[in-house]
Amino acid sequence: MQLSPRQERIVEIVKRSGPITSQQIARILSVTRAALRPDLSMLTRAGILEARPRVGYFYSGKPTAALVAEEIKKIRVGDIKSLPKVIRSDASVYNAIVTMFLEDVGTLMVVSAEGYLEGVVSRKDLLKVAAGGGNLQQMPVSMIMTRMPNIICTTVEESVHAAAKKIIEHEVDALPVVRPAGDSRRLEVVGRITKTTITKLFVELGEANK
Ligand code: ADP
Repeated sequence: MQLSPRQERIVEIVKRSGPITSQQIARILSVTRAALRPDLSMLTRAGILEARPRVGYFYSGKPTAALVAEEIKKIRVGDIKSLPKVIRSDASVYNAIVTMFLEDVGTLMVVSAEGYLEGVVSRKDLLKVAAGGGNLQQMPVSMIMTRMPNIICTTVEESVHAAAKKIIEHEVDALPVVRPAGDSRRLEVVGRITKTTITKLFVELGEANK
């Protein structure tokens, strides 16, 4: 959040002399109260200043970085997830390669005939087996996938921040968004979060104030 020079001066004044009324701030800055109103309302909306009736303005004590962190942690996986791109575990490796091109993704979620998550297959998994020169039409994708229970997943309720940390910590490009299937221990895939989803969110957040 970029503050104007006047907004920065207001923050300084309130930090030094708060609680302080808008009239007193206006006097220090030699402007009218009306002229200050947009700046004060922006600073309170942003959570930098707080206003109490009959007391005045005071500094909320939270630096901008802490406020940004607070806002970011409110965004849930369910708010930004994209559609899952899946392949059946009995499909061939060749089929997985074709699907990856057609769907224009770098990771496919591998599911059972009933639609439950069984594994994940990435670009490099496919490159490795293709370079090995086996029969790609014959080989099922289940032979080369990373399989459950080693799949790092997320849920619609998890914060995007926590999901992004999993992507970094486990050095993967994508996480399946899952939910328990009924009362079984199996998981249904309801979406995916990828490095691209998170980059898009970052760009959107950067443009929010334009
Ligand atoms: P690539 O290596 O093709 O660029 P990744 O970095 O995502 O793609 O994958 C690295 C390895 O981790 C691959 O073997 C892949 O099967 C596996 N993998 C990918 N996503 C996950 C995940 N969410 N959980 C567990 N393993 C994964």
